[in-house]
Amino acid sequence: MTNSLKQLIAGPCSAESREQVLETARQLADLKELTYFRAGIWKPRTAPGSFEGIGKEGLGWLKEVQETYQLKTITEVATPEHVEQCLQNDVDALWIGARTTVNPFYVQQIADSLKGVDIPVFIKNPLSPDVGLWMGAIERFKLLGISDVSVIHRGFFSYSKGIFRNPPMWEIPIKLKTEFPELQIICDPSHITGDSKLIEEVSKFAMQLGMDGLMIETHPHPKEAWSDSNQQVRPERLKEIVSAIVSRKANLAITHDEITMLRGKVDNSDGEMLKEIANRMEIVKEIANFKKEKCNLSINNNISR
Ligand code: PEP
Ligand code: MN
Repeated sequence: MTNSLKQLIAGPCSAESREQVLETARQLADLKELTYFRAGIWKPRTAPGSFEGIGKEGLGWLKEVQETYQLKTITEVATPEHVEQCLQNDVDALWIGARTTVNPFYVQQIADSLKGVDIPVFIKNPLSPDVGLWMGAIERFKLLGISDVSVIHRGFFSYSKGIFRNPPMWEIPIKLKTEFPELQIICDPSHITGDSKLIEEVSKFAMQLGMDGLMIETHPHPKEAWSDSNQQVRPERLKEIVSAIVSRKANLAITHDEITMLRGKVDNSDGEMLKEIANRMEIVKEIANFKKEKCNLSINNNISR
C-alpha cells in the first residue's frame, strides 16, 4: 500500500553558515511538497571535537528562511534550554534526536518544557531497537497534553550493518503503527542508509510500506558538508526523488525496491555468518592451544620420570 507524501522535511544535516542555510532554502523554495525546512543547530556527536553545531546564532538564519522563502522550519532540541531558545525565535516545529529518545529523563524534561505550548513535535526512534522506549517517549508528550506528535524512523544502531548505516528493522515502525494507528510516521532514509545513492530506493520502499512522509538531508554541496557528508543529496536530486515518488513510477519500481531490501538482508546475514566463522576459528584456536599445553605437560612428565 503506497501512501501519499503528507510530510516532506528537507534541508542540511547542520546549519553551517548563513549563506549555506539560505542557499539551500532558496533552492528548495519552489518544491511544493516541502512541509518543513530542516537544519540542525545543536548536533549531538559521538566523539567530542567533531562539529557540535553552530548554536543559537543559527536560529536567526532559520528566521530569515521563514521570512524570505515563507518556509516552515524545524530543528533538533536536546535540552529545555534549546526548547526555550527555539520558542523565542519562532521555530515552527521541533524534533527529538535518536540520542535523546534513549533517555526517559531527557525526554521528560523536554516534554515538561513544552507544557501548554502548541508546537508540532517529531520524535526520532531511540538508537536501540526498543519499541517500548519509543512508545514511552510518545506517551510522555501526550500525557502533558502536547497533541501534535509524530515520529521519525531513522534506523537502529547495530554492529552488523550490512549496506545500511543504521539498519531499518522495518518491523519496529510497523509495530508502532499497530499500537498507534493515528500516528504519522516519517521515514529518514538519510540516517538509515548513510549513503546518498540509496536514498531513492529506501524512500520508495518506506512509502510503499504506508509511511506518511520523508525527512531527507539536503545540501547544496554535499561533499563539503560539515556533518553527514556521505548521505546528503543536492536540492536538484531531492526534487527528482520526490517526483519519482509522487508520480506512478514509485508503484512500478516495487520489484526493484524489493530486490534492494533483499540485498540488504543478504548483507546482514553475511555479516552474521562472518561473525560466526570468526567465533568458530577462535574456538578451534583454543582447542589447539589446549592440546598443545596438555601435550607439553605429558612430554615433560615423561621426561622427568
Ligand atoms: C540529524 O537528523 O541530523 C540527526 C543527528 O539525527 P539522529 O538523531 O537520527 O542521529
Ligand atoms: Mn545528520
